[in-house]
Amino acid sequence: MQPHAKRDVSPQIRTKLPGIKAQRILKKDKKYISPSYTRSYPAVIEQGEGCWLWDVDGNKFLDFNAGIAVCATGHCHPEVVEAIRKQAGKLIHISGTDYYYPQQVKLAEKLAEITPGAKNKKVFFCNSGTEAVEGAFKLARYYTKRHFAIAFLGSFHGRTMGALSLTGSKFIQKKGFGPLISGVFHCPYANCYRCAYNLEYPKCNLYCVDYIEEELFKKVCVPEEVCAIFAEPIQGEGGYICPPPDYFKKIRELCDKYGILLIIDEVQSGFGRTGKMFAIEHYGVMADIYCVAKGIASGMPLGAFISKSSVMNWEPGAHASTFGGNPISCMAAMATIRLLENGLIENAERIGNYLLKNLEEMANRYDFIGDVRGKGLMIGIELVEDQISKKPVPEKRNAVVYKCFEKGLIILGCGATTIRFSPPLVVTKEEADIALEIFEKSLKEVFKS
Ligand code: PLP
Repeated sequence: MQPHAKRDVSPQIRTKLPGIKAQRILKKDKKYISPSYTRSYPAVIEQGEGCWLWDVDGNKFLDFNAGIAVCATGHCHPEVVEAIRKQAGKLIHISGTDYYYPQQVKLAEKLAEITPGAKNKKVFFCNSGTEAVEGAFKLARYYTKRHFAIAFLGSFHGRTMGALSLTGSKFIQKKGFGPLISGVFHCPYANCYRCAYNLEYPKCNLYCVDYIEEELFKKVCVPEEVCAIFAEPIQGEGGYICPPPDYFKKIRELCDKYGILLIIDEVQSGFGRTGKMFAIEHYGVMADIYCVAKGIASGMPLGAFISKSSVMNWEPGAHASTFGGNPISCMAAMATIRLLENGLIENAERIGNYLLKNLEEMANRYDFIGDVRGKGLMIGIELVEDQISKKPVPEKRNAVVYKCFEKGLIILGCGATTIRFSPPLVVTKEEADIALEIFEKSLKEVFKS
């Protein structure tokens, strides 16, 4: 194995997968680790650098998932590693709940600056995406003194009770955990490839937004009792679904009409992934609260929600977190944001466009690619039986994901029948070509059979 050796750009699979060492770990994993995880293939990873991963048996993989859209700056970027090392030698923890420290304030100031809207914002730090959504939900109720909330079918907001109540992605995530938070209503999202109303954009005039006002507000919940609408700007776990350009403007107008907060969940789409710092910037809309996590600190645990100062008006003791925004994660985030601003966001746009163009050409060659969509390096490829029937093919999708793994490409599925590309933002054109080649070969093998 030569991790950190000069980049040799090709995957190398030297053993049967999983290899001998991996098999040993998988056996113990089965014995000791919670069975609630859903791993798609037996990748037992030991080391990473940039877009490359090495497993415990020395097999080398091209990573087009980045630890589920987390390692924005690639694995172990030297500047992030240095920031972590430096801070670890100085102060690991003290807790923002009871003490002050400069790293938290520094990062909060930066987040207030880079999230869309006026700089006059406040930040709450936590450790994960679900905590960010959970806290934002609490804040929305506290601030508005209203209890209903609206979220979207296909959305994923996390797995703690509040966030889980908002999640509308897969039934297995909720099965057996009820009763959840009451007063959460799910509406169809702007999924134009599979419109819930069988309408066509733009002729539909975004009926999916009108539905909220015309149906939900008239029959199920009065808008004056709705605290917030929660939305991902691009649905992640739901299938990398991009609403049309004017969708969020209409959602924003609806929120403004009834004094409802718009809470934008940028956990997966934020931090440069879509070729802009935040995906909602593609829609020219500002949120009242932004939820962030995943890519923010290149893999160090960190989450946050950021709101207008006037909205974060709760009193001392109302909300807190022992670990949230620890100094090391804050410094890893500062290094991450610096790297994003110094070229990685542009790279995400450039390589993302290159991948999209090539995947769209692939869709012209193969009837089983129903849709190619995305922005920057958040790309979904929806597989179907054929382009006319659009029949989902979840088994074949899973088989493609597995085949890619066997050939040294790490990807994951999302939604019922979609494959996601979410590589680290340091990905090169050469690496993109390798991924495209392996992906096409895998598609051909699966669909031929
Ligand atoms: N929100 C979105 C949009 C996500 O994609 C996720 C995780 O995939 C979450 C929230 C939950 O984040 P975490 O797993 O860090 O709790």
